Amino acid sequence: MEKRDKIYEGKAKILYTTDNPDQVIQYFKDEATAFDGKKKGIIPSKGIMNNRISERLFRMLMDHGIDTHFVERLNDREMLCKRLNIIKVEMIGRNVAAGSLAKRIGQDEGTVLSRPIVETYYKSDALGDPMLCDEHIFMLNLATPEQLHTMRETTRKVNGLLTAFFAERGIRLVDFKVEYGLYHGRVLLGDEICPDTCRLWDMATNEKMDKDRFRRDLGGIEEAYAEVARRICEA
Ligand code: UDP
Repeated sequence: MEKRDKIYEGKAKILYTTDNPDQVIQYFKDEATAFDGKKKGIIPSKGIMNNRISERLFRMLMDHGIDTHFVERLNDREMLCKRLNIIKVEMIGRNVAAGSLAKRIGQDEGTVLSRPIVETYYKSDALGDPMLCDEHIFMLNLATPEQLHTMRETTRKVNGLLTAFFAERGIRLVDFKVEYGLYHGRVLLGDEICPDTCRLWDMATNEKMDKDRFRRDLGGIEEAYAEVARRICEA
């Protein structure tokens, strides 16, 4: 399958049309951004690692009955996917307080939540991805109640599956972001799942193995991503 026209260029990926109107190619870049694009950098080989990590995680989720847009990984940096109409609600699953939640509820980073939660945010760079409640989502016509229900329940399932999968490989899933889109009326899990979009901590040392190394200038970013790839793709 060959790339045709560029449809969209985001911070970490480029989307291209293909000969098949129902399929697109996601091209994974090495660029990294944080703090609403205010911080920019390159993480060498990040695109290659995120493509492989996302493939492994999508395959695992599909093996457990989750509907996703993944079709196949084409090469180092390209993934063939079903073409979705993206729903502009980012779903965040959380198990441990970190990042914006730690600030919002005044709990130290690392505090285990009394139960896993799922939050909803507006996918809008212009507004800085604000948190939305259900009423906002319906008022803005971003999703129907049925679609939101599906996204929330799927995100809870995905959290359980990812948590167990990572734990078997010595990694704690602290939190993660997923996106969904419509494909011929069906809600499918889309985008990517990788250390750019998850907080992953080594269970033995609590070392961060994700994009917080870039956000917080901790160094060893490539090595951390490579270690996640090694643990999940080779086992
Ligand atoms: N996240 C993401 N994209 C976003 C916002 C958050 O992938 O636009 C991920 C982030 O990497 C983390 C989780 O979602 O794994 C929760 O992020 P949080 O709300 O704490 O935001 P942060 O404070 O990291 O910006």
